[in-house]
Amino acid sequence: MVESILIGKPSPFCPGCGHSVVTHDLGRALEELGVDPLDTIVVSDIGCCGIVDGLLTSHTVHGLHGRSPALALGITLGLNNPRKKVIVIQGDGGATIGLQHVLEAARQNVDLTLLILNNMVYGMTGGQISGLSATEFKADRFPEARKIPPYDICQLAHNAGAAFSCRTFVGKKLLETLKTAIETEGFSLVEVIDMCPSHGVRKLKDLQQLADYPEASYQNHRTPFRVTPRETVSLLQDVEILKPEFKSSLEHRLRIILAGSAGEGIQLAGDLLAAAGMLSGLYCTKKGEYPITVGTGFSIAEIILSRDPVHYTGIDTPDLLFILSPDGLAKVKDRITATTRLIIDESLAGEVEQPPFIVRDFRGAGGKKGAALLAVYSWLKQSKLLPPEALKSIAEKHRKRDNLLRILQKEEMPTPEGD
Ligand code: SF4
Ligand SMILES: [Mg+2]
Repeated sequence: MVESILIGKPSPFCPGCGHSVVTHDLGRALEELGVDPLDTIVVSDIGCCGIVDGLLTSHTVHGLHGRSPALALGITLGLNNPRKKVIVIQGDGGATIGLQHVLEAARQNVDLTLLILNNMVYGMTGGQISGLSATEFKADRFPEARKIPPYDICQLAHNAGAAFSCRTFVGKKLLETLKTAIETEGFSLVEVIDMCPSHGVRKLKDLQQLADYPEASYQNHRTPFRVTPRETVSLLQDVEILKPEFKSSLEHRLRIILAGSAGEGIQLAGDLLAAAGMLSGLYCTKKGEYPITVGTGFSIAEIILSRDPVHYTGIDTPDLLFILSPDGLAKVKDRITATTRLIIDESLAGEVEQPPFIVRDFRGAGGKKGAALLAVYSWLKQSKLLPPEALKSIAEKHRKRDNLLRILQKEEMPTPEGD
């Protein structure tokens, strides 16, 4: 006899909630089938049914609302091990939101079991109806919605190609139905009609009256979809290891922010600076922040250079702040402190109170896409914390080598008279 998947903690659900019954029966089904909890991966969805995780001794993964079948599909294909049982627990709300993911798992006939706990409401947000709410249940609450029939999720899954799909009420048949589903090779779906005493139906007797769905059970005799095992390849295998070629005089940790506009080479300049740091024997981290639109708005690169390993990569207030455009200034203005060293494009020098460490027409000299790199190179030449040659050496290895070297050359050129 295997151990139970259930920890034995008190149920976190409201008294009388149907989810407690389903969880209990799922535990029993796995136990009676002899499935070890450590061979079980439960993928839970957002919603009341998702709080089941804390009750289980199995592996658990909590997915985004409606997305748990897609997550489980990836886990099943990745594991590629028929001994492992992947079980998704989703509510009727999640199934409505993520219907396409349900159909896709059924269409591919991926070997997993999806339990849809259909209590006909979004319980966690106060009892709104879902796409699976029954017609009679909606009659008093939302008379106009009554005219719209619920999705027949079992029929849909069957038509999409599920090996097994079944609708049953919480009650005596549930245990055996769950066992059939878990034993099915391929995609199995069990829609359990259950109670939500807080926002939906309180009693089983009422449930049978108001949940006017027919019980149903379908099968497709199909081979489950599996992927051919492949040799695992490390994502880092093609990454070039930078061995120190230069020396840095940096003694303390330096937190640097490059602030400018999206599409103007801020991230590239940050990458090159971090790589130059590594080439100089330092530990370096680099993080990027920019709007999802990528080509408009601000762009921020945060770089930490350090003699010691960096365990926290966040920067609240930088030691060194490069400001290359109005977008960048607007984004970082409130992170300037009395000790921040500023390197700023001359067009913005009047916008900050404290005297900058370097002020220059970087945008004019390097072009808007080269201003950040030129500013970094200019700082390296003055501060000598890293050899400027390290940055040049990294630029020479880059696929945009010619462009980058052309920008760096601007720093070598004599400054025009009167500048
Ligand atoms: S709100 Fe409803 S579904 Fe959620 S735990 Fe309570 S009874 Fe169960
Ligand atoms: Mg629900």
